[in-house]
Amino acid sequence: MAKYCGKCFLSFDDERCPVCKRKSERNAEPDDLCFLTEKEQIWGGMLADVLAQNNIPFEQKSTMGAGMALRAGPMFETIRFYVFYRHLEEARKIVDELFSASAAQE
Ligand SMILES: [Zn+2]
Repeated sequence: MAKYCGKCFLSFDDERCPVCKRKSERNAEPDDLCFLTEKEQIWGGMLADVLAQNNIPFEQKSTMGAGMALRAGPMFETIRFYVFYRHLEEARKIVDELFSASAAQE
């Protein structure tokens, strides 16, 4: 059973959260919102479409990477995706397929 960190919105298999290093307090529940991936806006739009096509509800959070904004200008933006734990495995598969395929085209 995977553990869950409510602070980082992360499910993981270790004893401690890999991000904040807190010891996990509870198991991941089906309705826990879990961090899926972070993508640049152009790829984020594509991923949102595919998740919707697969009937996977998700939350998007837009972030400005401070370091990247300095390099790439203020328009640089990334999208963080969160899905419910019960959809996490399926959503991860979609991310893998989607972005390994697009990487192969480059
Ligand atoms: Zn954490």
